[in-house]
Amino acid sequence: MAYKDPERGRAYGREWMKRNPEKAREAMRRWRARNPELNRVRDREYRRAAHARRGAEIAAIKKAWLDAHPEVRRAKDQGYRARKRAAPGSFTGAEWRALVEQYAGACGYCGAKGPLDADHRIPLSRGGDNTIGNIIPACHSCNVRKHRMTEQEFRARIASERSDDLKS
Ligand SMILES: [Zn+2]
Repeated sequence: MAYKDPERGRAYGREWMKRNPEKAREAMRRWRARNPELNRVRDREYRRAAHARRGAEIAAIKKAWLDAHPEVRRAKDQGYRARKRAAPGSFTGAEWRALVEQYAGACGYCGAKGPLDADHRIPLSRGGDNTIGNIIPACHSCNVRKHRMTEQEFRARIASERSDDLKS
């Protein structure tokens, strides 16, 4: 069935699939069997897009919630600053610059170049301190994603995401 208007064609397709769910599933299965490569690539792209979408959605929901509750955001910021003040140890600007140089100016987790945050390998909230030994340069994205994970936990997370990608 050919349509001049592709949208009408698609609408017809959707209707047909609704009326013939069994046949639609069977056709999909045959199509997959005929196109294993294409199918794998599509699956991977789909999963990757879904993953990114989920991350962005969660970040947006969190941000909207914090925007609607400024007192919580203030308390969180204050809590972080208080923990930072209370945590033992500190590092100098020179120590930080030497550390960044040691990492060739790249994120210690993903290798991205660009602005780097001082990330606590063991988060302050989990008993880490402010000494340079507990600091690693991290890009903003890794820093945010790591959040309350330790360096070890975050590296395990990154590794499992990579192996998911390789499997597909
Ligand atoms: Zn990174």
